Amino acid sequence: MLNELTPTCEADGCDRTLSAERLMLTFETANGERRAYECACGEVTVTVHR
Ligand SMILES: [Zn+2]
Repeated sequence: MLNELTPTCEADGCDRTLSAERLMLTFETANGERRAYECACGEVTVTVHR
């Protein structure tokens, strides 16, 4: 199931899949759960899960 649970890196030209082992931080906000992933390239991508 490839969906929002398997985000990809937002850096230009990277597009690596951000697996659970890349998950650095999870926190709750009023708009849902946010997850910060650090890619092997160094880019940090934040996703929102409602
Ligand atoms: Zn990347």
